[in-house]
Amino acid sequence: MRENATSSDLLAWYDAHARRLPWRTSPADRRAGRQPDPYAVWLSEVMLQQTTVAAVKAYFTRFMLLWPTVEALAAARDEDVMAEWAGLGYYARARNLLKCAREVTELGSFPDTRDGLQKLPGIGPYTSAAISAIAYDHPETVLDGNVERVMSRLYAVLEPLPDSKESLRALAARLTPNHRAGDYAQAVMDLGATVCTPRSPTCGLCPWSTACLAREQGIADTLPRKKPKAPKPTRLGIAYIAKRADGAWLLERRPDKGLLGGMLGWPGAPWGEERIAQPPLKANWQLLPEEARHTFTHFHLRLDVQIAHLPLEARAQGCEFIDRHSFKPSSLPTVMRKAFDLAQSAFDEPK
Ligand code: SF4
Repeated sequence: MRENATSSDLLAWYDAHARRLPWRTSPADRRAGRQPDPYAVWLSEVMLQQTTVAAVKAYFTRFMLLWPTVEALAAARDEDVMAEWAGLGYYARARNLLKCAREVTELGSFPDTRDGLQKLPGIGPYTSAAISAIAYDHPETVLDGNVERVMSRLYAVLEPLPDSKESLRALAARLTPNHRAGDYAQAVMDLGATVCTPRSPTCGLCPWSTACLAREQGIADTLPRKKPKAPKPTRLGIAYIAKRADGAWLLERRPDKGLLGGMLGWPGAPWGEERIAQPPLKANWQLLPEEARHTFTHFHLRLDVQIAHLPLEARAQGCEFIDRHSFKPSSLPTVMRKAFDLAQSAFDEPK
């Protein structure tokens, strides 16, 4: 007879198989009375929005080293935080991170409820539930892509995402325990990340295998079903990369609002259906043979790269020269770094 899935089966599995993650308090540590640091939980959850665990690990460790408390982060210079965030993408998250750190510092501590957390910048329904569960052990239902996949399989939900989201949330809520809610939230995510994986789930290792309807019906790897997405449009643009005779680079700080807001980048007109030639100053611009390509959430971008060598007296409105010792390519957003990578060798060659 098929058994019902229970949170205690999953928690027993988690006790033995929890992933070791730099921001995580292990089940053994929790049992020993060590409570998670809400700051570390919040920081990791914000970093993990739209980014993989593997990519976040190094960033998280570095942030904790530079700013070990929310007060330290609140006191950091915006440009330092933006530079350390570079490469993680979705830069609005970094701006909200700072705003949130400053509000929490004013408040004196992180709120512990989902409602309180959700009032803070950059914290939506998912992140507030995750922080409230993981940091404070509140029985909140945490629904990320991993949990959606596990629930859709466990109960063989055939309705495609996103329409099935609320049904999946209700199923996940039914399983959420009052005791050890934080460990449970992390356990479902771990199960989705390591056992109930998108392709070829290893059902033989799953603590819910005898309860799982999709496994019984042999349809696990076809779930969750998803509605087809509209294809992404392609936008075009030009990045102007110029180096002054003393080695300084010409950069532009993007407006605070909008894509890559507040980040340094190469000057150029807004991206669109056509490339608009709008060099930041008159110079002998040369088009590189290769274009920089990058995919954002809602569109693909193809950037022509134009380069120029500038004399010492060069000036460009709205732009700034960053001297070669202060210029760190790693602090550029990924798309700007891709353009720089193409240009760098051209600058290394003799003029
Ligand atoms: S039995 Fe297989 S499909 Fe079902 S929840 Fe476990 S890993 Fe996923």
